[in-house]
Amino acid sequence: MAGRHEKEKGVNVQVLLRCRPFSDDELRCNAPQVITCNEWQREVAVSQNIAGKQIDRIFTFDKVFGPSAHQSDLYEQAVVPIVNEVLEGFNCTIFAYGQTGTGKTYTMEGDSKKSKNGELPPGAGVIPRAVKQIFDTLEGQNAEYSVKVTFLELYNEEITDLLAPEEISKAALDEKQKKPLLLMEDGKGGVLVRGLEEEIVTSANEIFTLLERGSAKRRTAETLLNKQSSRSHSLFSITIHIKESTPEGEELIKCGKLNLVDLAGSENISRSGAREGRAREAGEINKSLLTLGRVITALVEHLGHVPYRDSKLTRLLRDSLGGRTKTCIIATVSPSVHCLEETLSTLDYAHRAK
Ligand code: ADP
Ligand code: MG
Repeated sequence: MAGRHEKEKGVNVQVLLRCRPFSDDELRCNAPQVITCNEWQREVAVSQNIAGKQIDRIFTFDKVFGPSAHQSDLYEQAVVPIVNEVLEGFNCTIFAYGQTGTGKTYTMEGDSKKSKNGELPPGAGVIPRAVKQIFDTLEGQNAEYSVKVTFLELYNEEITDLLAPEEISKAALDEKQKKPLLLMEDGKGGVLVRGLEEEIVTSANEIFTLLERGSAKRRTAETLLNKQSSRSHSLFSITIHIKESTPEGEELIKCGKLNLVDLAGSENISRSGAREGRAREAGEINKSLLTLGRVITALVEHLGHVPYRDSKLTRLLRDSLGGRTKTCIIATVSPSVHCLEETLSTLDYAHRAK
């Protein structure tokens, strides 16, 4: 029975806020700053001038990272403990959520993914850092292990494999010619994506190469399909099996999975694409993002029914959300007044997930 104790320890959702620096464009037009981060108080203040009246709203998060926070600060303070859980055999998920242009991809992938002689560049994001932490730990242990990765994109509730080797072309991306991958129940409470490339990797560098291939594919799709990536979700998953021997000589297998999700731009929720006569697309894109919000609310508020089945993204992540898993949402915002409306909706969404 799910007693009181069970309920209290059950949910593990952490919500962080990251505000990026002003962009060159924002600086050029002298955009006023409306966001102030107080990292110590874990607070974000939004200052608005409505009809001559100054209004301040304060939002509190589990952690706050201001414009001067480095990639390494965010990683060390927020992600290291999550990756340690994965290495202990648990499933964890990290999401980047926010308006397009606020730093989701910068946070997850970063500036440069290539590692030079084992060192990561300062701009490296969560994914390369997590890969490095995983291999550094595994290589330092005296245990057998295997590491597998998958990288997929979800657009219009359709799954595309970002690691599939075939050449990408406009024709291949056409709605009619594209063969979306099918999602099936695996009979063990999880799901399988039929035909998805599962690469077995033996070093961090191999993953960096795959990641680059997948990101390049995503970028190509973006140019071909008119900014597709702001409307698509990408999911990079690393599954680790570790075989250990107990002092009694027994074999112990630990299996953990880390999911790293770069979500579609949150403006897709508020700004209905239906206006442009793209009702289906808008509806389908909203589906995964909206369902994710509902699933997280259900988990945080301990509602009996968690609507995992209502979208592809939440079906894919079903074994990694809730229960004995850790979830981290990194909400990203811009400091500029020009993004104020979307910033407020991001802050509200993220705050509700707490
Ligand atoms: P999104 O994926 O949310 O659409 P991006 O990650 O592409 O946004 O970021 C938009 C731009 O802002 C990129 O040029 C990126 O390098 C820059 N940027 C985002 N966050 C930061 C940050 N914290 N520090 C420096 N530059 C950033
Ligand atoms: Mg992006």
